[in-house]
Amino acid sequence: MTRTVYVNGDYLPETEARISIFDRAFLMADGVYEVTSVLDGKLIDFAGHAVRLQRSLAELEMRAPCTMDELLEIHRELVRENGINEGLVYLQITRGAPGDRDFAFPDPETTEPTIVLFTQNKPGLAASPMAETGMKIISIEDQRWGRRDIKTVQLLYPSMGKMMAKKAGADDAWMVEDGFVTEGTSNNAYIVKGNRIITRALSTDILHGITRAAVLRFAAEAQMEVEERNFSVAEAQAADEAFITSASSFVMPVVEIDGVVLGRGTPGERTRRLREIYLEESRKTAV
Ligand code: PMP
Repeated sequence: MTRTVYVNGDYLPETEARISIFDRAFLMADGVYEVTSVLDGKLIDFAGHAVRLQRSLAELEMRAPCTMDELLEIHRELVRENGINEGLVYLQITRGAPGDRDFAFPDPETTEPTIVLFTQNKPGLAASPMAETGMKIISIEDQRWGRRDIKTVQLLYPSMGKMMAKKAGADDAWMVEDGFVTEGTSNNAYIVKGNRIITRALSTDILHGITRAAVLRFAAEAQMEVEERNFSVAEAQAADEAFITSASSFVMPVVEIDGVVLGRGTPGERTRRLREIYLEESRKTAV
């Protein structure tokens, strides 16, 4: 089925969408993005994604091409137009296409940012089989740049990490820097010890996950405490439970790390509960 996508003010069939070869994102990965999930045809945590988008743009001195209200309307229109009940909306804003290749940023007065949105239909997103089986994780060295708090489209190393996991027969990779886990290739990483959720504190080392913020808010509801600190792969392997969070996977259990099985090798009770609460609560506030 041909999707309707949004490019610089126009709703178009995906086959008619065009971007310049001089676009800064194509040549320099000079762009930021957001992925918002859709459940029951509604956007999950749109406000959180909009705030992070504005922060990413500000950190890179990039202009927003429209207001956040307009952005919400574009998201909703695409969800309607493409009949998405469960799935994702991908949004990308770039520094635009100055008409030639140059390392220096173009003058924002004369070069308009590029904005692109498209939907991804994912029936069964909330009832993912992986939530029942859990994920196998390998650890890899974190070789990304130092501003991981900005959600840029330079995703080559995370892509390589996913491939390393695939080749090793695993589902994903956690990245490790100076002996401690930073995050997953496209998700935040957690371990559970007793009643305590342990996850790395926010800094420029990791992306400030929107799902992370929500899950930590819901922790009390699950009768759990939160400890924001570094943990190593060895500590994770000895933990009671482990999981990841992201807008596209919500809360997803981890059952194996570098070949070491956690507990009984099935998703932990606390992780299950957190996933349930997350899905329930975020459906309530979806727009
Ligand atoms: N860390 C990284 C590196 C990511 O790419 C993502 C997802 N884009 C996340 C964490 C999770 O963020 P969110 O919960 O906002 O999807």
